[in-house]
Amino acid sequence: MSRVVIIGIDGLDPFLIDKWRDVLPNFSSMYSDLPQSVLESTFPPDSICAWTSIFTGENPAEHGLLESIDYLSAKKIKNDESRSSYIKGKTFWDIAGKQGKKVCVINPFLAYPAWEVNGVMISGPVFEGGALSAFPEGFVEQYHFPQLGGIVDFPDKKKLPEFITRTQSITEELAETGLKVYQDYDYDLFFITFLTLDRIKHFLWRFTDEDDIYYPGENPFQDSIKQFYVLFDKIVGRYKSSLRDDTTLLVISDHGHGRRCQKCLNLNELLRLKGYLSTSGRGATGALKKIIEKTKVLTIAFMSTFGFQDWIYKIAKFIPNRKALKKSTYLIDKASSPVTLSNVCGTNPFGGMDISAGSAAEYEKLREQIIDELMGLNSTLGANAVKWAVRREQLYRGLHEKRLPDVLFELDGEYGVGMDLFTPLSSRNYTHKKISGGHKKEGILLIYKNSEGIIKAKRPESVMGVKDYVLNLIAAY
Ligand SMILES: [Zn+2]
Repeated sequence: MSRVVIIGIDGLDPFLIDKWRDVLPNFSSMYSDLPQSVLESTFPPDSICAWTSIFTGENPAEHGLLESIDYLSAKKIKNDESRSSYIKGKTFWDIAGKQGKKVCVINPFLAYPAWEVNGVMISGPVFEGGALSAFPEGFVEQYHFPQLGGIVDFPDKKKLPEFITRTQSITEELAETGLKVYQDYDYDLFFITFLTLDRIKHFLWRFTDEDDIYYPGENPFQDSIKQFYVLFDKIVGRYKSSLRDDTTLLVISDHGHGRRCQKCLNLNELLRLKGYLSTSGRGATGALKKIIEKTKVLTIAFMSTFGFQDWIYKIAKFIPNRKALKKSTYLIDKASSPVTLSNVCGTNPFGGMDISAGSAAEYEKLREQIIDELMGLNSTLGANAVKWAVRREQLYRGLHEKRLPDVLFELDGEYGVGMDLFTPLSSRNYTHKKISGGHKKEGILLIYKNSEGIIKAKRPESVMGVKDYVLNLIAAY
């Protein structure tokens, strides 16, 4: 039916396209209205999980890759080839290649190192530094590719101007080089991914949003995010005007991105108060740990309030077992706690609980109780803080279902999961000053077709439908 060009933009948000459409002529030409453009992300709407679903068509219970990136941790996530070896061979470009289509894939998230495809594949390391990888080897030597892959930046406030400039030039270089590759060869499927917009939004959101609690007033970064949307609009325009005949252009994101939660719902504390979670250490040790926890909560609140947020992370580097301190796990006696917060939880609205019980009946009873406790918070707090809470199989079924938490929930967008103990149930999110942009579950899919043919394939509603959609588009070409 059609050749396909896909521009993947991590974190491209349909609500912002809608808001700024007057200055985004190319996005606008592919956009009709909000409901028509939303592509639902996975639960949780994290890059690893959602891109894997885009590539393979599998839901999170089927692929089981639920790891999220902690932007507050200066420690880089290790390159783990098990993730990419799971994806290898299963992606839409692998399948298209096996059907004889010529493919070119540039900078696919996680898919590193590059593997053999029917065409070209170029990727960068997932998180840590590392060399660019290409199939066929040596293909990249004729081009000038910038740094690729999921670079995790961690800029201090004073380094933001440099961060913006560098991120912009990486984006422009990748767009330029990608277009050159596209024009030099004739591919049936061309797929290029940009990971830069998401990072800009994580760090710069509060400077651009007057409604943000930490909006500093007029500032030099005021329009930084909008300027990146304008930049991406120009990039999409350049690709659009270079399309060959009979080509469908897709612009796609793995999730949306907007203001990160400004409050925390302290669910460890809820579990403790309700008797599901036991704290460790009795007597003097227990008392000392309680003091450490309270000191931690107060110190972070103080430093953040008085503008020392960059120092929290500098100092934290010297604390051994800082993750345990951050998540308050040093205080929790896991063996005697039937319900604990899942690793899926972060300071965002999407989370889960792990449950351990002696029998299947007890397990089900506990799950029901926890769902009731979570939903009951809405009357306690007098706000709709918890949108929904369900048993995991109500959301997704699949081979790796058990990697999902036993109970899943979504909070209101103003709340993230708080891990602190001995603290009020609801508190301010003090990490918001450092990371003020957060993922939203509404991603985007924009479609443009430059031929007379009719697209018979049905537009997908969620990221899981992208693979089949793309394969349908190119099947008859
Ligand atoms: Zn992402």
